[in-house]
Amino acid sequence: MSICVIGTGYVGLITGVCLADSGMNVICADKNEDLISKLQNGEIPFYEPDLEPLIKKNHSSGKLRFTTDITVAVENSSCVFITVGTPGLEDGSADLTYVYRAAREIAGCINGYKLIIIKSTVPVGTCKRIKSYIDDIIKKTGRNIEFDIVSNPEFLREGTAISDFNFPDRIVIGTDNEKAAALTSEIYELPIFENTPVILTTVETAEMIKYASNAFLAAKISFINEIANLCELCGADVGVVAKAMGLDKRIGEKFLNPGPGFAGSCFPKDTRALLKTANDLGYDPEIISSIMKSNLSQRKKTVQKIINSVGDPADKTFTVLGLSFKPETEDIRESASIYIIEELLSVGGIIRAYDPKAMNNMKKLYPELAVDYCGDALTACEGSDCIIIATEWEQFFDLDFKIIKDIVNKPVVIDLRNMFEPGYIKDNGFMYTGVGKQ
Ligand code: NAD
Repeated sequence: MSICVIGTGYVGLITGVCLADSGMNVICADKNEDLISKLQNGEIPFYEPDLEPLIKKNHSSGKLRFTTDITVAVENSSCVFITVGTPGLEDGSADLTYVYRAAREIAGCINGYKLIIIKSTVPVGTCKRIKSYIDDIIKKTGRNIEFDIVSNPEFLREGTAISDFNFPDRIVIGTDNEKAAALTSEIYELPIFENTPVILTTVETAEMIKYASNAFLAAKISFINEIANLCELCGADVGVVAKAMGLDKRIGEKFLNPGPGFAGSCFPKDTRALLKTANDLGYDPEIISSIMKSNLSQRKKTVQKIINSVGDPADKTFTVLGLSFKPETEDIRESASIYIIEELLSVGGIIRAYDPKAMNNMKKLYPELAVDYCGDALTACEGSDCIIIATEWEQFFDLDFKIIKDIVNKPVVIDLRNMFEPGYIKDNGFMYTGVGKQ
């Protein structure tokens, strides 16, 4: 099957390169000329572990091509993945502008039967509406061309995207059409997907599975954040609580790490969009509507904890280690670090920051923030009144707090990811504050 992927961002590029690496012919298309020209010239547009060699290998073998010409991409493919962004709007709903634009472009150049697979996260009912939308355009131009729409949500995580795509926990295929189900299953019969459970269901159910999964994970993080706050009040250790909870197979160990609140390109916007869908349907879901409130409250508590550690924050120097919303990505969408930096600047704090990958994104997207970006973590700690571990990058484990003690102004560490053993930091003369433990 020849594949075209419309939207060559995180999900589109990973989808394209992994399918190409499995032997399919793939054209990745994107409106962004700069992005496509970088890819055509062998440059990798964003950091993701193991992505670069995979792209180079499949691009040079001709299995993976890049274009800004959607028409050429669609005309030469039997299967079209839509992987454009669906960011959140002010009212919480998902912005479907890009999905509709991609649908309009496909409708304008469709030249024979196509299997159109929507991988973008879209609210329940969208895939059916896209089908009618494309149908109308085709009919209005007097053509008679068949196509099918399938909902096939993606669950990969940035930082582990390639292995997540190749070895997913499940594959969800939503369609009401046997031919489309069979064709989509054919793609997922590749050896990489062997032994992966396939959920074949309706379009609406597939769309809901994605939102329900993300909102559940967001709720799980918010839950452990609240338990951590309680642990701080009553003297319990959330690390041990979470470990023991996680050993219960009904609960599971993942997503039980407390921190400054969840972030990223998906959980916040998808939770808001699910709530908006519920409200539009006249339903007020109490748990879902409290997830974002709890998350904001966690961020506020985090900032207060940082401020409490220095007294008057005006003219104090705060070192923020980690800007991406999680390690192994340069993505800063809704990152807690941005909120923390904005709040500390608003009370007169001075910010020095370091991140192994995300500093260029911060400079580009938040040029108004008066942050002193440093070349390494040690430099960022010079003259600091409070070191904030905001993202658990592996390389921060190598920090030598004995050396750091000599270069800071005040020895204070706020470990928002519980990366370090409190004893190790305290033994080096620092005041240490973690999350949910003494
Ligand atoms: P992204 O912003 O990284 O990439 C989207 C790309 O689509 C951009 O490069 C943009 O230029 C392109 N685009 C927009 N309109 C276009 C058009 N009409 N034609 C061609 N290209 C167009 O987005 P992403 O993070 O890859 O997310 C894509 C979708 O997948 C979203 O719905 C998201 O919720 C979902 N998703 C994301 C992740 C993740 O970790 N990033 C994981 C699972 C699902």
